[in-house]
Amino acid sequence: MSEQAPPPLTPVDEDWQTALAVVAHPDDMEYGAAAAVARWTGQGKRVVYAMITSGEAGIDGLDPQRCGPLREAEQIASAAVVGVDTVEFLHHKDGVLEYGLPLRRDIARLVRRHRPDVVVTTNYRDTYGGVFPNQADHIAAGRATLDAVRDAGNRWVFNELLGEGLEPWNGVRFLLAGGSPEGRHGVDVTETFALGVASLAEHKAYLAGLDDGAMSDPAEFLEGFGRMTGSRLGVRYGSAFELISLRPPE
Ligand SMILES: [Zn+2]
Repeated sequence: MSEQAPPPLTPVDEDWQTALAVVAHPDDMEYGAAAAVARWTGQGKRVVYAMITSGEAGIDGLDPQRCGPLREAEQIASAAVVGVDTVEFLHHKDGVLEYGLPLRRDIARLVRRHRPDVVVTTNYRDTYGGVFPNQADHIAAGRATLDAVRDAGNRWVFNELLGEGLEPWNGVRFLLAGGSPEGRHGVDVTETFALGVASLAEHKAYLAGLDDGAMSDPAEFLEGFGRMTGSRLGVRYGSAFELISLRPPE
């Protein structure tokens, strides 16, 4: 039986200026999307990161109270490598993140404050590649982000945000979900691939705590996916995204 080559990817439109990345945990951007962020900041775009949790339940041998601040510091260092100087932490509880109105409201608030053209999140589908089960926080974070982008644009949803001086923001053109099995778009990260690896490597305590060899070696892990995605774009290294358009086709 011959294996069918995965279909080519459509390049992500880069005619925009600001992006807000909203993910569940420190390191979620670094497992695939950070090299694309490095490319975008290199083009002069502004990218802001928001972590819904501080990843405090992510290291088995470390108490969450000590782990949280450590992982926040690692995320700030990691973001700086790819040209991101603003990292916000929403301090929802790691590992037990719930999709729901409080989460949607907190993300809608972020969207109204930062007024991005593009929102980036991680895979919110049930699996990676149709096989490996996705983690519950990622699913909640991605779904809530998608919904909160709409909420941010509706004056009458979470209207307490108006009381905070935050007017509706309808300017988000599309959402990009990294690591999605429905990824049909891609970014050429050949020039910034090494920055993506360096960005993941900043999660030192987290990587040291992993017992899985493949995940804990940043270059090795990103190399395989980067090449595979690159081949679908006709370049050396690529980063794939599911693109959800929030505007009707012109
Ligand atoms: Zn995660």
